[in-house]
Amino acid sequence: MLVYKFGGASISSPEGVRNVYRIISGCENKLIIVVSAMGKTTNILETVNIAYTERNTNEALRILSGLETFHYEMIDQLGQPDEVKYKLKCLFEEVVSFIKRNENHDFDYCYGQIVSLGELLSSVIVNEYLRSAGINSCWADARQFIITDSAFREAKVYFDKTDKRIKNTFSFTDNIKYYVTQGFIGSNPSGDITTLGREGSDYSAAIIASLSEAESLTIWKDVPGVLSADPKLFSEAELLPELSYKDAAELSYYGAQVMHPKTIKPLANKDIPLYVKSFADKDAKGTNISSNKSLQTIPVIATKKNQILISILPKDFSFALEDAVIDTLLILQRYRLKVHLIQSTPLCISFCADDGRNARLAIDELRIDGLVQYNDNLELITIRNYNEKLIAEYSGDREKLIMQNDRSTVRILLK
Ligand code: ASP
Ligand code: MG
Repeated sequence: MLVYKFGGASISSPEGVRNVYRIISGCENKLIIVVSAMGKTTNILETVNIAYTERNTNEALRILSGLETFHYEMIDQLGQPDEVKYKLKCLFEEVVSFIKRNENHDFDYCYGQIVSLGELLSSVIVNEYLRSAGINSCWADARQFIITDSAFREAKVYFDKTDKRIKNTFSFTDNIKYYVTQGFIGSNPSGDITTLGREGSDYSAAIIASLSEAESLTIWKDVPGVLSADPKLFSEAELLPELSYKDAAELSYYGAQVMHPKTIKPLANKDIPLYVKSFADKDAKGTNISSNKSLQTIPVIATKKNQILISILPKDFSFALEDAVIDTLLILQRYRLKVHLIQSTPLCISFCADDGRNARLAIDELRIDGLVQYNDNLELITIRNYNEKLIAEYSGDREKLIMQNDRSTVRILLK
């Protein structure tokens, strides 16, 4: 049995959905197909949640209805009957009725209930399309088998509970060879919908592959595989045919856009290979990620934009460094900030993390006990197999706020 994951960019058009069929129809194995929301749907649903939690219900409903039109047009263009529209309408109505009746306006809670809609819609469309094209696939509801805690925007998966549910859900028979399900979403033990963090569908696919003991996971992308750098930024980017789990985990953590950083661990635990392949050219080789030793010698560059460097200084020179680091990390962990760099001096500790709503909330809390300064709008560049020439080339004349290196990797935080 194999697991295939298709991202939002791959299925943002009718042609993309047809291509999913083309890819699948060439596959002899049993398959679980995991899909993300179509195109920019998740971004749009995030704006619905913002409007709604700011008590602007009409605006929330207006944006939602634009999304409804987009999905109906997709169904028309795929030549699907009105019954499919009706299935989507029921999903939209659940969210509309949530918006009208719910009384808990907590941002994160509402996020789960609203933003999860994107994957439900796309998975219904893909499943119905495959069925109409003659593939006998079943729709599986990830809310029933990915069981998580209640951190609604970045939920932690309960692997034991999820394991049992997954084994019960995907019961292949001679008749049922294909399942279509959602990435990104799950639910807490009370049945509220949760999400695994932006771009989390890869992680969902890895969990499903791991717990259902798949032979492999393939992530179908709009790039030929894992590249040594972002081709939009660096023209010398080249395809990496092989990567170790360790290299892949590190690269994705430091911003290689190719997969969600949490994807590797569930696969590595069971030694399940991950193939990253081109959605547009299904027979091209792509990248194989496995337990092989790292053979990577060419420079690999990952960048992360929109970083914030938060520095904490004691009010009274009373720094006990260990205590300050622990206290600060606990706060950052509570806001689920991903710390990409730490630097300390006797009088100051600094953390580099993704900027955004949670970073700002964490800063407010850190200010209660210390003096906090921050620099925002920074970029973190990580270069594997670096040399001085590459450092000069990629940092240009921008100010370097922090530079850290070991033998193989350098990380530079730039203004
Ligand atoms: N749809 C979600 C997002 O856009 C999850 C994903 O695409 O992996 O973040
Ligand atoms: Mg996506």
